[in-house]
Amino acid sequence: MGEQLPRLRPVLESIPGYRPGRSVASSGARAGAVYKLSSNENPFPPLPGVLERALVGADSVNRYPDLACGELVRELSRYLDVPESHIATGTGSVGVTQQLLQAVAEPGDEVLYAWRSFEAYPVLTQIVGADSVRVPLTTGAAHDLAAMASAITDRTRLVFVCNPNNPTGTIVHRAELERFLDRVPPDVLVVLDEAYIEFVRDDDFPDGIEVYRNRPNVCVLRTFSKAFGLAGLRVGFAVAHEPVAVALRKTAVPFGVTRFAQDAAIASLRADGLMRERVAALVAERDRVTSALTEQGWTVPPSHANFVWLATRERTAAFTQDCDDEGILVRSFDGEGVRISIGERTANDRFLFAAKRFRKETFG
Ligand SMILES: *Cc1c(COP(=O)(O)O)cnc(C)c1O
Repeated sequence: MGEQLPRLRPVLESIPGYRPGRSVASSGARAGAVYKLSSNENPFPPLPGVLERALVGADSVNRYPDLACGELVRELSRYLDVPESHIATGTGSVGVTQQLLQAVAEPGDEVLYAWRSFEAYPVLTQIVGADSVRVPLTTGAAHDLAAMASAITDRTRLVFVCNPNNPTGTIVHRAELERFLDRVPPDVLVVLDEAYIEFVRDDDFPDGIEVYRNRPNVCVLRTFSKAFGLAGLRVGFAVAHEPVAVALRKTAVPFGVTRFAQDAAIASLRADGLMRERVAALVAERDRVTSALTEQGWTVPPSHANFVWLATRERTAAFTQDCDDEGILVRSFDGEGVRISIGERTANDRFLFAAKRFRKETFG
């Protein structure tokens, strides 16, 4: 008798096993501190009041949290000026992305997005059994919305627009987004993934909350992981019209957002002013890093997020190794490029040093 093993879904074979992000401990840095600029994390500690409030609830971890995240939803409703019934929470906005796909896509359906874009899109699409349709970025590393509109078929159920785009940092502007949305059939859901919206400095950027109000097929994704600095607590949310928001509550992991996460998110919203100051400091650093790289001779797409993108192509592995040797962990995409998060000033300086040396050694 042949050995019988549990049968797994064949689709899992094409999904890469979890590859842990490079850790500070595994870096090849010759000596000294190692900085992790590979996960777009916020280098600042939690905002004032966040840990205090989260710890107040620590003695009730024997209880399940509020399934509906009621207080957080009320606060978000006021913060964004949207109805409570339009807000759905999840374990990070990646969690909400999974809820969205489970709510709209089945085998045979198509999910459309730009490429390269956020790595969670292809994986989560495969897991629900739908087909990914990828539309290449423009030569300027931006979404090609005209091509994306043309790629919609009667099988398309969901379109991601990552704005700003991870990993290239580019944005789509208000007029082109509205033109695009006018071409999308009303039964296709458009998801505006705005994980980095707080870092945008552009008057023509379309705030998804304004865009969604009179468009029932638009859903906005936001997170506490980036500007608010709560990546480790896993809390994000969607803003969408009621049918979509109701569906997202049905596909959520029950009790997925812990009481710690809910309380920390509420306290973070109340420290909004300081969050904005910290984001302004990171934006200033981003612009300083961009100018310095440009001066070194690199071509850098204008970033509106807390990272920059270098299209290092066939030199990606060598560049990544050079950064690693300098104690700087970056996120590399083999054969394409490298995404470098903006961290504390010392880390950014260290990265700029590595980039300068690399250019000199490579291009003379
Ligand atoms: C970081 C990021 C998120 C947020 O992830 P969380 O699950 O909320 O931590 C969502 N979308 C994009 C494009 C991101 O880069």
